[in-house]
Amino acid sequence: NKQVILSNYVTGFPKESDFNVVESTISLELPEGSNNVLIKNLYLSCDPYMRGAMTKPEGSERKGSPTYVPASPIAGYGVAKVIESGHSNYKKGDLVWGFTTWEEYSLVPAAQLVTKIENSDVPLSYYTGILGMPGMTAYAGFFELSSPKEGETVFVSAASGAVGQLVGQFAKLTGCYVVGSAGTKEKVDLLKNKFGYDEAFNYKEEPDLDAALKRYFPQGIDIYFENVGGKTLDAVLSNLKVHARIPVCGMISQYNLTEQEGVKNLSKLIYNRVRLQGFIVTDYYHLYPKYLEFLLPKIKEGKVVYVEDIAEGIENGPAALVGIFSGRNVGKQVVAVAHE
Ligand code: NDP
Repeated sequence: NKQVILSNYVTGFPKESDFNVVESTISLELPEGSNNVLIKNLYLSCDPYMRGAMTKPEGSERKGSPTYVPASPIAGYGVAKVIESGHSNYKKGDLVWGFTTWEEYSLVPAAQLVTKIENSDVPLSYYTGILGMPGMTAYAGFFELSSPKEGETVFVSAASGAVGQLVGQFAKLTGCYVVGSAGTKEKVDLLKNKFGYDEAFNYKEEPDLDAALKRYFPQGIDIYFENVGGKTLDAVLSNLKVHARIPVCGMISQYNLTEQEGVKNLSKLIYNRVRLQGFIVTDYYHLYPKYLEFLLPKIKEGKVVYVEDIAEGIENGPAALVGIFSGRNVGKQVVAVAHE
């Protein structure tokens, strides 16, 4: 049972060498009387929040968020097949998505599995992305927190990633004007040519983000879907319309810094009556059936598309995971452990 182990707590940017892939053993029979579920992991999800779990916890600061333990396997979202089940909700052969360990086979409590997969006529890896946690993040962050209206102007950062590519498409479905920023030309092309963004730019090539935003939003921004924080947030704060909304989804530019960057323009929130609101996707999982009802037909009709970056083999897991912090991924980063 190959596993991905954290070698040591991480400071700064994570590196491949912070992880080891090791061989271990696991019994493929359920222990007598167990109400857990034995699963074969198929696809593992690489997500930015996993960076937080690599940091040495201090006191009670990290209560409630996952923490990895050096010399133990890391964990995250994944898609799996049930091998044996001691729990009445699951049976052998079921496909599931939920929280699992980075290894080939896992014994997990049923409560860790978010749900059984009922629609398997889409790529199964989609349940780590568009039909999983990142998809729900885009849906909840855009529709539940942003109060979007037709004709409004929307800006999305990390716009080609797992969450961002969907936010842009949801904004277009709502009839908004949407602009995205990303870190390479290839990603900017995807934004405009695949995801339907009206405009897109490479933030690494913009010496003045404020000027770039003024160019794309001469009348200002109604909704900023915040994925990166730092300098981008500061520039956005000076380009907002009255009653703008900022769903604060993530701030990936800050996750590897030992000291957070300051934000200078927060006072702009006042006169513009801006709503800035953080959220955590798990608070919205009760909307998952509604999300599937909304999205599945759109996937099947080609009205919503999804780009994935799939690394083959658990051995390539560490490189794939650390790659999301340098923008190496194009689209949703997945690790394929097995295909069925
Ligand atoms: P992505 O698929 O977008 O991958 C991360 C991307 O972030 C990279 O490809 C890179 O793209 C960009 N990035 C990395 N470092 C920086 C930096 N210093 N400045 C700007 N961009 C950077 O990730 P996700 O779509 O999965 O996640 C997007 C955001 O959503 C993250 O902040 C994440 O934490 C957050 N999130 C929040 C959730 C919640 O419940 N609140 C749930 C899920 C995600 P590029 O080449 O464009 O730089």
